[in-house]
Parts: sequence; C-alpha cells; structure tokens
Amino acid sequence: MELVKYLKSADLKSWLQELARENRVFAPRNEGDSVIFAPFDPEQEIAIVHPATLPPKKTVFPQSEKLVDFTYSKDPENLSRIMIDGKEVLPEGTAVVFGGRPCDVRGFTMFDRVYLAEKSTDIYYQARRENTTFITLACEKPETTCFCHWVDSGPTDATGSDVLATVVDGGYVLEALSDKGSKLLTSTLLENGESRKDEARKAHEKAAELLQDAPDLSGAPKKVLQVFDTMEFWEEAAAKCLSCGACAYLCPSCYCFNITDETIGMKGTRIRSWDNCMSAQFTMEASGHNPRPTKAHRLRNRVGHKFSYYPDIHDGVISCCGCGRCIKSCPVGTDIREIVLQAIEYEPAVGEEQADEQ
Ligand code: SF4
Ligand code: SF4
Repeated sequence: MELVKYLKSADLKSWLQELARENRVFAPRNEGDSVIFAPFDPEQEIAIVHPATLPPKKTVFPQSEKLVDFTYSKDPENLSRIMIDGKEVLPEGTAVVFGGRPCDVRGFTMFDRVYLAEKSTDIYYQARRENTTFITLACEKPETTCFCHWVDSGPTDATGSDVLATVVDGGYVLEALSDKGSKLLTSTLLENGESRKDEARKAHEKAAELLQDAPDLSGAPKKVLQVFDTMEFWEEAAAKCLSCGACAYLCPSCYCFNITDETIGMKGTRIRSWDNCMSAQFTMEASGHNPRPTKAHRLRNRVGHKFSYYPDIHDGVISCCGCGRCIKSCPVGTDIREIVLQAIEYEPAVGEEQADEQ
C-alpha cells in the first residue's frame, strides 16, 4: 500500500537530524551566490530554491574520488620486474539526499544505463547508488530555462526518486516510491498524510499547467546526426563559447571522468575526477593529434551525444533532463534548446552531403 506522510516545515531540520544518525545526509544550502548540496548541518539554513546551482551529482559521483591504493615492489631476483599490489577503496555507509529536483534525480537514471550496465558495472558508482536514498522535491513553478517536459519528464516526475516531497500549506506531503523510501518514513515526527494527498495532487496539476507547450523532439536523434558534417552549423552555434566547461560540470547527466595516479615513493593512489568534453584537452591524444580540435567539434559532440548517440543506444532516451542549468550558467548565453531546434529545422542545401553515421 502507498505510504503517505505529512511533515510540518518546522520539523524538517529535526527529521533530517534523525536521519543523520544513521546516514550521511545532504541538503541544499547557500554558499556565496550559489546553492550547493552539502552535508546537512542543523546550524545552517536549508536553501529550498529551484533548482540549486549545482545538482546533487557529487553525492553519488564525487568530483574527485579515490579508487585504488597501490604499492609497487621489485622482484629481488629480477630488479627490472616491478609488481603492483592494489586494493579497491569502496565507498561505505548509506546516504540520504534531500531536496534534489525531479530533473536532478532523473539524471542518475542516465548514469545507470552506462555505469550499471551488466558487462561493465562501475562498482564505485554502484555502491553509492544502491546506498543512497533520494527525497525529491516536486517543483511548484518551473523557470523559463526549464524544459524537462520536452524530454519526457515534468516538474513532478519521480523517476529515480525514493520519496516525492510536495510543498503544501505548512509543510510537506511525503510519498514513498520505493522500499528504501518507505524505510525513511518511520519517524514519529511524521503524521499520516492521507488527508493531505489532494493538496499535493493539486500542486502537481498547477505546476503542469504553468508549462508552455513542448516541441516534438522525436526527430532530434536523426536530425542532429544529419547536420553532423555541416561544420558551419556548429561553428555558428559555438562562435561565442569560451570552453569554460560550466555546462558539462553543472549537468546532472554528464558523466565523463579522468583518471590520474598520484605516487609517493613506492606507494600510490588512483583517483577519478570529473572531466569536461568542452575542454580542448579532453580528446588530446599522446601523439598530439586531437580529433575534436575546435570548440565547434566539441559542442557538436556534446549536443550529439545527448540528443543523438545516447538515445540511439538507450531505447530513445535523451540524455538531457531539461534542468536548464547549462543555459542559465553559460557566460555567453549558449542555449542547447535553440541548437536542437535549429538542427531539427535545418534544411540542407541541394547536393549537401548527409552524414549517416557518427
Ligand atoms: S558554459 Fe557556455 S561558454 Fe562555457 S563551455 Fe559551455 S557552451 Fe561554452
Ligand atoms: S544538457 Fe543542460 S539542460 Fe540538459 S541536463 Fe545537462 S545541464 Fe541540464
């Protein structure tokens, strides 16, 4: 049976404090001009904004994480033979993330298709993903940069979440969506929420009514590929780009990383850190050759990946959750929506060659 609870706004911090006894709890808070997800601190205000500057991506996929500790040793019988003994450093403990928005949490379902793939499961991601519970806040009022409803989602989409929290008069209606979610809703601070369910439902309907009509993106995978070789298209789209990487770093569905080994003497650590495909160095090969030498090539890859190559191999799912962060945060106003719509509307000149493969 569906489990629905009600939490008074005044009890939110106490509830998170209770959860923090057994879990690492993350919640949004102000840091300078930004709102970030950070370990919950009852002394600090929880920033209920929409959406946070940074998504809660790092709670499952840290900006930088230790993967392996290793030690070199030399074979005393043959000093040119070096042996390496390594030990994985797997994440431990459970976590609760309060206050991500539906687009933020849906981003992890795009990671899942890659990092939890049967033949290439990423054990570090898997450990955090399985041990993290998401209490997602339904959106009441989408921003002008939000376009979750263009990409098969919406302001109350609970895909990937364990509890959906909806702001109602005086508090939150909390609906459990998974076993993990139900286990969180046992506190005596929570009241039976059955009588408040209608209020939550009305809030969901109101949010949906505020959305503008969405364009049809079903043709995007093919159309984006069709302009693949039309470099003028990408040069124009990328003309102002500064290659700063804000779009990729802030994106809840961007999952590229880099690996570095740090060694001191015979001991070392393998570290994984977020990487950014908009950087000129991202595809630089050891020979000095760079298959994506210009920012036009790199923007083409970013848009192509999200709206064409990824859906092509993942049941048509677009690898963008429409959070709008890349639009809001781009210092030169690059708008991924415009690029995709222009690609869909693009009419090739007569005789212009069409790309039929990546
Ligand atoms: S945020 Fe804007 S300027 Fe920065 S890399 Fe992305 S598109 Fe370019
Ligand atoms: S591409 Fe932009 S709008 Fe889409 S999920 Fe990433 S940051 Fe959000």
